[in-house]
Amino acid sequence: MAFTKVAPPAIADSTIATIGNTPIVRLSAVGNKAQVELLAKTEFSNPSGSIKDRVAQKILSGLEAAKKIKSTTTLVVPSSGNLVISLALLSPRHGQYKVIGLVPERTSEDRIQLLKSLGVEIVRTPIEAHADSAESQFSIAKKIATDLPDAILIDEFADAANVEVHSQETAEEIFIQCEGRLDVLVVGVETGGTITGLAKALKAKIPGLKVVGVEPEHSSIQDGVNRSSAWKVEDIGSNFTPSILDKSLVDAWVKVSDQESYSTARQIIREEGLCCGPSSGSVVAAAVRYANSVSKGTKPRVLTILNDTGRNYSSTLLSDDWLLEHDLMDETMARSVAYHRH
Ligand code: PMP
Repeated sequence: MAFTKVAPPAIADSTIATIGNTPIVRLSAVGNKAQVELLAKTEFSNPSGSIKDRVAQKILSGLEAAKKIKSTTTLVVPSSGNLVISLALLSPRHGQYKVIGLVPERTSEDRIQLLKSLGVEIVRTPIEAHADSAESQFSIAKKIATDLPDAILIDEFADAANVEVHSQETAEEIFIQCEGRLDVLVVGVETGGTITGLAKALKAKIPGLKVVGVEPEHSSIQDGVNRSSAWKVEDIGSNFTPSILDKSLVDAWVKVSDQESYSTARQIIREEGLCCGPSSGSVVAAAVRYANSVSKGTKPRVLTILNDTGRNYSSTLLSDDWLLEHDLMDETMARSVAYHRH
């Protein structure tokens, strides 16, 4: 029998070599309903299922090159979950670092189970606590990192590596994959690392590129107004403005409700066959809304970043019962559920 596949990637030396080079996929079902050429960079194709593998690898290799870390070091990580997962997954391929994760109560039980299986020590932190308060994930992390001998604080909200990995690596992939042709880039924002790195590098290469930041309805990143942090979508939004975010690179902000985010994520899974998480739903909903408002009959090419896998959310996004319980089941989803239950 003749082999017909053309040059698949060679054997990777370790999981580290499989980070990045994620496919860009056309969202033809969702995109066709909007007047846009809608594209998605599938960051859920990274080994741990999220974009944060890139950041974890950049941070660990930087610390190792600077000799700031030993195999006995404990990494203390305030994060909504994905960076802790990536650091824990990559650690055995680096040193044998112990990982302590300061993870907000919003984070799904599915990710907590994964973290536990990776041997991560987890401290849950209240979502309402402001970054400056003693109960915040940052304050608790700082205290643990100071009190514990041989511990280091990994602060993705302030670490330049979280911007550089995207301006140096992710942006180049996008430029090559899109052959330099892109009108709008739409990115979910929490630490601001992805949007700042991509906007910086791609705006320098693609004149006229518009960059759109996406956050949940009650989040304070854009305007700094202190409000309730009680949104459900994980991994985007914050009740403060992170120091690595360069707002001058962001042309527009779009806020998306929980209901629109969850229903769009389920639509992407169902209609596009891309198993993404809730923040990807927010980003695609924002992309369609923004592009429709500016397209004026042209069909702009719009790239969204789908940051993590829906498999992280079996007990929330993928659970009809959870969506019903939290009043997040919209009409289209209810119809498809009714169809499946017959
Ligand atoms: N979506 C998901 C799933 C994420 O894990 C993150 C990172 N917290 C974001 C969006 C936001 O990206 P950034 O931290 O680079 O702003």
